[in-house]
Amino acid sequence: MSFTKLRRKSNSKLKDGNFQGIDIGTKFINLAFNVQTMKKNLLFIIAMIITFSAHSQILKKQIPDKLVVMSFDAPASQYSVVAPLLKKYGFDAIFFICEFPPNFKDSSKYMNWWQIKALNDMGFEIANHTHTHAHIGHLSKEKLLEQLQYIEHKCDLMGITKPTDFAYPGYDLSPKAVQIIEDDGYEFSRAGDSRVYDPLHDSPMLVPSWAMTDKNRDEIRSAFQEAKDGKIVVITIHGVPDIEHPWVTTSPELFEEHLKYLVDHHCKVISFRDLKQYVDVQEALKEITPDFDKPLKN
Ligand SMILES: [Zn+2]
Repeated sequence: MSFTKLRRKSNSKLKDGNFQGIDIGTKFINLAFNVQTMKKNLLFIIAMIITFSAHSQILKKQIPDKLVVMSFDAPASQYSVVAPLLKKYGFDAIFFICEFPPNFKDSSKYMNWWQIKALNDMGFEIANHTHTHAHIGHLSKEKLLEQLQYIEHKCDLMGITKPTDFAYPGYDLSPKAVQIIEDDGYEFSRAGDSRVYDPLHDSPMLVPSWAMTDKNRDEIRSAFQEAKDGKIVVITIHGVPDIEHPWVTTSPELFEEHLKYLVDHHCKVISFRDLKQYVDVQEALKEITPDFDKPLKN
């Protein structure tokens, strides 16, 4: 090898050595920076895992958008108008049953027990709305249990699936009454407040709902659009029509218009029973304390 070639080679080695020195320094700074970033990322991941695992225990599977629970009271029109329309559009629903005084026995106003049984046999959910549509906030434990058990026994006699969900008559409730109903084995309990149900934050014992009537077509229409991002829209419908309570009635025409909207917008209409495919109610009851500071009425 010539002298010139040897010098070039040693120079290039020297240069490489210098570069390597700078390179190692940069790598060290990068490494230190990366350790900091990794630490931050790791903390973020741990926080996400904790949050997700708490939530994933409440959720059995992801809540799809456009999930709507439709719930009814017991006027006669539920059998003659509502059930056929729900079947026509392929929707499920829940019917909250009571023997509404003073005219429960008038079959032009309320369903009889054979019609309630027929709804059960069609696959709809039958649930408890107390014996006499009792405002339960101030009832003794004994009286409240009597109210619940009357409907349970009647269902048993009629061969109707045991009710496991509840709705507060007149949205009247108290922390004590809610606890008694939960202890009696009820899972979802419908309240009011015209807002979406967020299963990660709302207790299953205080599921918020909107009340549909002839007067709030646009409000209900925009409520349907809130069924997204893990939130569920629950609708209370008194009667279609409700002859005895005209101030909360919904006409069959408006009701069908709402159903058509739900079909056209690919919404899934279900009962509380169906909702248990998505929400682990027992886990939610353990993790979420009912918040009585929120408005609970419609
Ligand atoms: Zn009611």
